[in-house]
Amino acid sequence: MTKAKALEVTLIPGDGIGPSITDATVRLLEAAGATITWDRQLAGMAAVTAHGDPIPDTTLASIRRTRLALKGPLETPVGEGFRSINVALRKEFDLYANVRPAKSVLTNGRFDNVDIVIVRENTEGLYIGIEHYVKVGDDPRAVAQSSAVITRFGAERAIRYAFEYALTNGRKKVTIVHKANILKYSQGLFLDVGRKIAKEYEGRVQSEDKIVDACAMELVMRPERFDVIVTTNLFGDILSDLTSGLVGGLGLTPGANIGKDAAIFEAVHGTAPDIAGKGIANPTAVMLGACQLLDHVGEGKRATTIRGAIEATLRERKTVTGDVGGTATTEQYTDAVIARLKA
Ligand code: NAD
Repeated sequence: MTKAKALEVTLIPGDGIGPSITDATVRLLEAAGATITWDRQLAGMAAVTAHGDPIPDTTLASIRRTRLALKGPLETPVGEGFRSINVALRKEFDLYANVRPAKSVLTNGRFDNVDIVIVRENTEGLYIGIEHYVKVGDDPRAVAQSSAVITRFGAERAIRYAFEYALTNGRKKVTIVHKANILKYSQGLFLDVGRKIAKEYEGRVQSEDKIVDACAMELVMRPERFDVIVTTNLFGDILSDLTSGLVGGLGLTPGANIGKDAAIFEAVHGTAPDIAGKGIANPTAVMLGACQLLDHVGEGKRATTIRGAIEATLRERKTVTGDVGGTATTEQYTDAVIARLKA
């Protein structure tokens, strides 16, 4: 068999549990025969410590060259300090669609039929970063204002991505989620664009629209009726944590940030400071993020094999990490997945 040409991918281990779960993922990909050259780069607190800069130019230059990155979670100080590096990376590389799948693997009798993909508009909305305080009297922070910006262009490319994703992945329905009843301008524009695009796909992909609060309730009551969901930035962020919870927690759900010129793959979860350094983090989410990367570069077959080994290991529940009810370390779980791969 001829060996495939090595793919170059920027690897950002990240903060907290990041280095251990990305190491585990690199080990799994190697065991699965993926020929990847990793260009290791820093970002987040690790980069502040090493270079005094949370997002060094060398890291940006690497992603610009490879156009692909696998990223561990990055720490963002709450309320003050530097702005989120994740948000900065999405802006820098114009990663307009955030694809977050949540699928039931560990059955618990409550949510056994979940197979939902959330496509979140990733560059605008309330996360666009237009924020300021207004001073009143002696109080410099008497009023805080954050603006949500929706553009026809931004809404259109994210929503179109969701419909195209549905078509190419054999999905049946796209639900457009919004709050246009209250936010008539910004959310109204998103819904308006969504309905127009839905019409273009009539007969090929079913569609519906739902108000975000009703959607949140229905996701918990009857998650099996959802397929692909497309929504604005903040709603997508919140709902994708909700769908992670439906399928067993944050340790299991990955996210792909897709742009025209680059794509960054990661876990939905953060740096898990409460368990960092203990060797017990669940690496599944980043591993599944790496599978999304393989899908993205046309190595879907290898991705399916890896997913199969992960799912079998999880279903067996013998060697799984604490967050999903086991006692295995990150390393023991990774060994078990690799053993499955070779079985
Ligand atoms: P978190 O996702 O780090 O942790 C929430 C809970 O889930 C914790 O109890 C944690 O132990 C658990 N958890 C998360 N991932 C796990 C895993 N792989 N295995 C086992 N348990 C896991 O959320 P947080 O505590 O709100 O955030 C911590 C830091 O992470 C913050 O600085 C935040 O800004 C950052 N963050 C980064 C990203 C990212 O880089 N994409 C995403 C979310 C949060």
